[in-house]
Amino acid sequence: MAEHLSAHYAIGLTGGIGSGKSTVADLFEAQGIVVIDTDAIAHQLTAPDGLAIAAIGQQFGASAIAANGAMDRQWMRELVFSDGTAKRKLEQILHPLIRQQCEHLAAMATTPYVIFAVPLLVESGNWRGRVDRILVVDCKEETQINRVMKRNNLNQEQVQAIMRAQASREQRLAAADDIIVNETDLNSVKMQVQTLHLQYLTLASAANNKSDA
Ligand code: ADP
Repeated sequence: MAEHLSAHYAIGLTGGIGSGKSTVADLFEAQGIVVIDTDAIAHQLTAPDGLAIAAIGQQFGASAIAANGAMDRQWMRELVFSDGTAKRKLEQILHPLIRQQCEHLAAMATTPYVIFAVPLLVESGNWRGRVDRILVVDCKEETQINRVMKRNNLNQEQVQAIMRAQASREQRLAAADDIIVNETDLNSVKMQVQTLHLQYLTLASAANNKSDA
């Protein structure tokens, strides 16, 4: 079992935008499993009084912080879109804090395994080594585009631009230990989650026994 995070068996949940990660995360939570969402943590870190705010202000200046004390997301999005160095600097601030918070939440979890929901898990060398299994939510690109156009009120070109900045469907599938196909109705996803949940309980129990031995 991966040793760095906690005694918990750890599943990394990922998938392209609109594949259904949040939907799947909710279904695992409904099974009573702790899901640790790195996007939500990044949001908290950059909210007013967030732990990353002081470092972001120091690194990028006052214009990086909005009037309410949160990171100015629009300002930062525009900056990192055009400036790779700035993007890396922001990541150097956020990634260690995200990891710390993940470790903290995982250590507090009392479920047999935990799920780390990490949108760019396949893209991140670090995360791949930190989980015991990688679970990819998969659907056709066309389905992703349709869902995100509807959910975020974007046009096709805007969704495709986001998708181009992510790993390809093939790259994600190549990294997967487990795959949930989210192409049809929600019931099909529920059944797949139920099956995987039972497998993960078995795997976690075996791993925990081994580490106790
Ligand atoms: P992600 O977290 O990967 O971006 P979401 O779980 O938010 O994806 O799903 C994207 C959108 O598609 C959401 O609005 C969600 O409600 C919808 N959706 C996801 N799976 C299905 C499905 N099987 N049937 C219908 N709508 C779905």
